[in-house]
Amino acid sequence: SKADKKGLFRFYNDELYQRIRSKLDAEEELAHAIASRQFEVHYQPRADTRSGEIRGFEALVRWMHPVRGMILPSHFIAMAESTGSIVALGSLVMQSVFEQLAQWRDAGETLVPVSINISPSQLDAGGVDHQIQSLLEQYDMQPELIEVELTESVMMSEAESIVEQIANIRKMGVKLHLDDFGTGYSSLSRLQEIDMQVIKIDRAFVSRLGTSNQADVLVKTIVLMAKELHMEIIAEGVETPLQLDALRHLECNEVQGYLIARPVSPKEATALLRQRFLL
Ligand code: C2E
Ligand code: CA
Ligand code: CA
Ligand code: CA
Repeated sequence: SKADKKGLFRFYNDELYQRIRSKLDAEEELAHAIASRQFEVHYQPRADTRSGEIRGFEALVRWMHPVRGMILPSHFIAMAESTGSIVALGSLVMQSVFEQLAQWRDAGETLVPVSINISPSQLDAGGVDHQIQSLLEQYDMQPELIEVELTESVMMSEAESIVEQIANIRKMGVKLHLDDFGTGYSSLSRLQEIDMQVIKIDRAFVSRLGTSNQADVLVKTIVLMAKELHMEIIAEGVETPLQLDALRHLECNEVQGYLIARPVSPKEATALLRQRFLL
């Protein structure tokens, strides 16, 4: 009838419907991109605060879209998490990191550890510990070369399966980094319980260093606490010589950020590895 058609017409023009439609399209596109491996892992180095010597890389995933070019994680990680495709994406990333380390090893490069970001939803899905274990075996990789970055919310989780995966990963000899420290809520006793080795101070604090006394005091306190707990400490998002200076004064072990180097392609990462001193 005429009324039905009108209703249908309205339905198809409905903004909500369009939004749902384009969301489904985006999800489908992401799933397809994962299946066809349109992703590359880029590497951002971290360096010794004093000597500038390279100490490791962080693996950061990029979507190399055939039409739109390189897409950063902020545009797709949340969707990958909500749809569950983060599990397949995470596997690609891990595989790619092991592949890269094996390549560097075979080429006789001096190796540094690579840290991999793991989302809460990857641990929720389970099996992350087994995945890492089997990759270590498959590539005959020293566990010291693989590190895992987890956020505070994961660290604070009391879900049995998550606690168990984290403990298993730790037992393999893989270091655990507490990512984005200061942005969540963690109890210090819990930090010690789970045997974290590295704290990464979030960029939000680092960016205010040298300009706000409060930020200076906060970072100083975090550094002292980390020392007291025998943890290493990395400052993230270091962009200016002023910030670097402040971090040297505070005896923060390592620095990461655009001042040292941006995340780079595997090829450029090889060049940084050979350069060795980055400051
Ligand atoms: P994150 O783990 O906190 O990574 C640091 C982010 O800060 C990266 O953004 C990096 O490029 C950026 N960054 C580094 N130095 C500076 C600096 O000096 N200034 C500024 N403004 N930014 C800096 P990116 O690569 O866009 O990644 C964003 C987030 O996406 C990451 O935050 C991480 O939570 C997530 N992510 C990236 N790769 C993966 C992955 O393979 N798996 C999972 N689960 N998450 C990932
Ligand atoms: Ca990270
Ligand atoms: Ca971070
Ligand atoms: Ca973050």
